[in-house]
Amino acid sequence: MSQTAKPTTVPTVPPAIVAAREDFPILRRSAHGKPLVYLDNAASTQKPQQVIDAITRYYEHENANIHRGVHLLSTEATAAYEAARGKVARFLNAVDDSEIVFTRGATESINLVAHSYLEPLLQPSDEILISHMEHHANIVPWQLLAERTGAKLKIIPVADDGELDLETFDQLLTERVKLFAIVHVSNAIGTVNDVKPLLAKAKARGIATLLDAAQSVQHMPVDVQDLGCDFLVFSGHKIFAPTGIGTLYGRREILDTMRPYQGGGDMISRVSFSGTTYKPPPSRFEAGTPHIAGGIALGFALDYLSQLGLETIHAYESELLAYAASQLAAIPELNLLGNPRHRSGAISFTLQEAHPHDIGTILDTEGIAIRAGHHCCEPLHQRFGLNATARASFAFYNTPAEVDALVVALKKAATLFA
Ligand code: PLP
Repeated sequence: MSQTAKPTTVPTVPPAIVAAREDFPILRRSAHGKPLVYLDNAASTQKPQQVIDAITRYYEHENANIHRGVHLLSTEATAAYEAARGKVARFLNAVDDSEIVFTRGATESINLVAHSYLEPLLQPSDEILISHMEHHANIVPWQLLAERTGAKLKIIPVADDGELDLETFDQLLTERVKLFAIVHVSNAIGTVNDVKPLLAKAKARGIATLLDAAQSVQHMPVDVQDLGCDFLVFSGHKIFAPTGIGTLYGRREILDTMRPYQGGGDMISRVSFSGTTYKPPPSRFEAGTPHIAGGIALGFALDYLSQLGLETIHAYESELLAYAASQLAAIPELNLLGNPRHRSGAISFTLQEAHPHDIGTILDTEGIAIRAGHHCCEPLHQRFGLNATARASFAFYNTPAEVDALVVALKKAATLFA
């Protein structure tokens, strides 16, 4: 726990971002009679009208099952869904559209890699390397896999400031490690991990790599070729698209080697009772009818972000987060979780002995939506000797005035617990 964030000036909101905020109808509503201040973006972001319209348009004009029909609606729905795959590929700078597998979200993407890539390769003497700041989605699938195979899970420690312990990382990166799976941005501390050199070290030792980008793709440009990861996962609902849709990026050479994830329609070449053959990636991993409207809407969300510009978003959010961290650190009763060099998205804290759920409830009466709990990072909280924290998490549409409202409400809450 640390409170050394330096005071910063109030950021100026770029005109493009002021205008973009107007695209989010929900941000105009009130909560408990107060203007809504939505600071739970790490859990799920709000949706712009363009994405909402894309969903409506699909159901009003194109709704049909994809990949199978010969009629016009099915052809149009298939084209829209596959266009969305291309948009994701370009968004991540993948080499080819076939490197994009649509899933239900980051969680399913990681489970897919555990089942289809790693499980067939693992021996009991092998290891999977993750960190102490992972979301449960990047812990539990590996624990289940370790139980099934006898392999071991190794953990890179996290220092008091919320940064990875890189010396220990170097020691843990042995030839026994078969997969290195790491979070890009911590959903609890907000630490931006400098993953490129870590991925390069793993690659140099022939270790496969997975980047959990669930909390980074909505805040900064992410380029899979530049980062050099084998797999990358993210969820649509955290990047202004609907729930129930997400992405697994996998390098094509690796996807080609992988066994199917689930069996069913659309993932097969031929089926007979004497044996079944499977389609090449990505279809091999997409059994059954997918979330067609969700995929199409994800494409529109990525178009929206690209038009606004991830560089613009990143620059503004960096200032907003620095401002928020410095304002929160200046509240004497507050303790921030970690003090990372680069922070994105989230700031977690405790307020004296107050239970974080009570803080969340008090702020809710002020119209301010934050998160309270372990944020699906129980091991990280245990490491800091905590059961829970309160978390404010930001998107580009949040403003310095909303940070100020949070600070006022927390100061008021502090008086109740004094
Ligand atoms: N990874 C990180 C870093 C997350 O923050 C989350 C969700 O909060 C996930 C993975 C899992 O995402 P989902 O629940 O959308 O599958």
